[in-house]
Amino acid sequence: MLVGIMGGTFDPIHTGHLIAAERARVGAGLDEVWLMPANVPPHKPNAPKATTGQRWEMVCRAAEGNPLFRPIDVEINKGGVSYSIDTIELLCEQYPGVEFAYIIGADMVEYLPKWFRIDDIVKQIRFIGLGRPGYQLNLDALPEHIRARVTLVTMPLVDISSTMIREERKAGGSVRYLVPEAVHQYMEANGLYES
Ligand code: ATP
Ligand code: MG
Repeated sequence: MLVGIMGGTFDPIHTGHLIAAERARVGAGLDEVWLMPANVPPHKPNAPKATTGQRWEMVCRAAEGNPLFRPIDVEINKGGVSYSIDTIELLCEQYPGVEFAYIIGADMVEYLPKWFRIDDIVKQIRFIGLGRPGYQLNLDALPEHIRARVTLVTMPLVDISSTMIREERKAGGSVRYLVPEAVHQYMEANGLYES
């Protein structure tokens, strides 16, 4: 079984994440996609705006109704800073026989050489990279041992980010249809990102 892991801060999860996940699933022949919110992301200067519980709830709502998408709380349960190498070791231990691939957008592809212990990571998993407006999907810039582990899959470029959604909500605008309806309703009901 081949499982794609779509990790992120998901503050909040949005349609760009889901389109990327679905394109990766089909394009790379994944059996399932697991959506995995980070506890504390290692690479972001600011703490998430929503609570861990709220980010988890939104991921669950986003996955609802799709039997091939599954929310997993392995990083949230572990706590602390979510380093991918720790997560990968945990996943491989917990799910022997499952092969994992990480699904990442172009900004993260670019950032791969800076991932903590990337040389160990690429020995254990491969990556599926997708385009994102504002970023070049240029694998030539990557060292060979990393580049060899990245497969590219195309998607219609989606210019949505969680930052944009937080800003739009703060400004009192509408983010309807930029996030799944169940996520939109949750944000409205809980006044998320309004201040
Ligand atoms: P933020 O603006 O808070 O950084 P984000 O929209 O970048 O949020 P993250 O949770 O940081 O979302 O990203 C998780 C993963 O999803 C990363 O691999 C990122 O590249 C990918 N991703 C996010 N948005 C898109 C998008 N619109 N198209 C393709 N990939 C995306
Ligand atoms: Mg981001």
